[in-house]
Amino acid sequence: MPLSASILEQLRDILGASQVLTLKEDLIPYSFDGTAALTQMPGCVAFVETAAQVQRVLQLANTLKVPVITRGSGTGLSGGSLPVADGIVLCTVRMNKILEVDRANLTMLVEPGVTTVQVADAAAAAGLFYPPDPGSMRISTIGGNVAENSGGLRGLKYGITRNYVMGLEVVLPDGQVLWTGNKCVKDVAGYSLKDLFVGSEGTLGVMTKVLLKLIPKPAAKKTMVATFDAMDRAAQTVSDIIAAQIIPCTLEFLDRTTIHCGEDFAKVGLPLDCEAVLLMETDGHPAAVDEEAATMAELARRNGALEVRLARDDAEATKLAAARRSAFSALARVAPTTILEDATVPRSELAKMIRFVEAIARKYQLRIGTFGHMGDGNLHPTFLTDERNHAEMHRVHEAFKEIFDEAIRLGGTITGEHGVGVAKKSFLPKFAGGAQMRVMRELRRALDPNGILNPGKMFD
Ligand SMILES: Cc1cc2nc3c(=O)[nH]c(=O)nc-3n(C[C@H](O)[C@H](O)[C@H](O)COP(=O)(O)OP(=O)(O)OC[C@H]3O[C@@H](n4cnc5c(N)ncnc54)[C@H](O)[C@@H]3O)c2cc1C
Repeated sequence: MPLSASILEQLRDILGASQVLTLKEDLIPYSFDGTAALTQMPGCVAFVETAAQVQRVLQLANTLKVPVITRGSGTGLSGGSLPVADGIVLCTVRMNKILEVDRANLTMLVEPGVTTVQVADAAAAAGLFYPPDPGSMRISTIGGNVAENSGGLRGLKYGITRNYVMGLEVVLPDGQVLWTGNKCVKDVAGYSLKDLFVGSEGTLGVMTKVLLKLIPKPAAKKTMVATFDAMDRAAQTVSDIIAAQIIPCTLEFLDRTTIHCGEDFAKVGLPLDCEAVLLMETDGHPAAVDEEAATMAELARRNGALEVRLARDDAEATKLAAARRSAFSALARVAPTTILEDATVPRSELAKMIRFVEAIARKYQLRIGTFGHMGDGNLHPTFLTDERNHAEMHRVHEAFKEIFDEAIRLGGTITGEHGVGVAKKSFLPKFAGGAQMRVMRELRRALDPNGILNPGKMFD
């Protein structure tokens, strides 16, 4: 049922008329997120600027049992901010203030609509470091990062968003405000509720403040790329680096398809006559960085690297990293529909999983470019397809099923960083099992008995 005139009127009262969009042409940009082939028109888009407004909107929606879909920048890759028909899209991008940088406690308090890059820049301006760096960091919001527990290129050494969330202000579906966490390094009073909200994909509450942990900035960094004539050699190099007890801050790979598309797009000067590129970065104390970089280069050579190129300066390092950062955009130019997946396996199984994806591409006659976080076992098989070609889309879905089944069989997971959302909810029961599904559903019911927040996401 479309949103009634009375609900829209009340939303305008709470937020101001200009903060509520209802015209079709205004709603279209909010009818999808970064996930391919999923669209749904919302009933309206409501921009919130304060936690008090979020409270009032949720109280209204909860009383009338209207669905609310919280949205940051809409870059999600599992349909998390995809609207529900006639629901309210509650957009947080105007809650975009950095409230405090606390150098004594190494924390930063921000509103959820601040972009990841603004957090990183503000930390750097204070001489500090905020490591999580999803590929989308120039546009993604910190609220979206926390809700998806996003990873990034530096996850191997520095961890993911969860490792940097110290506290959260959350508005619950009935409008109650909850603070969880604080600036204490140690706090074991009660359940760690903040950890429940990290990765909750907009289904348990709306985050209105995020207290982030910052760390000292590494004094030095070295970036290099190694090229290989076989993906196995790149995978073996990764295993050897870890076995040598080096934890690089970045250990990323691109396969042949991604290298070619990336070179067309970013023109970094990567060689085209290779099967795999490894991007390797080490940071820390200058002496340790020199030693680790030399060992990493040596291990790559021992595994038959065709070339190991060390960036001469920051500008070249940024350029080399750009080849990996722009991988998705580069692949997205090649076909009308780009479906990016993030099956993840234990590191030791990565080479096996990459070979499996290649075999699946041949079996289903599909074009798949694969890149990802080799050091984390998190790979992004990216299907280059066309959603108008129904026969091909059917093969894509069959290929997905096999890839997720194989990831689970190898001890991995159906999503390493993009979340379940709509895209993977049918795979969750098989991965999580009955007991976990029951606990997750009961938690959801306890916090959101009317099921107004992001209904139809995560659970079927
Ligand atoms: C080019 C590209 C590269 C990417 N690279 C990476 C990567 O390297 N690593 C990675 O992990 N992801 C990556 N992503 C996926 C995506 O950017 C992340 O999931 C990101 O965290 C989403 O942020 P957003 O602001 O766009 O959130 P949205 O897409 O708007 O929302 C994502 C989810 O968060 C919920 N949400 C948003 N704000 C709040 C809030 N304040 N309170 C409660 N729930 C909220 C929404 O309901 C939704 O379920 C990439 C996406 C693209 C398009």
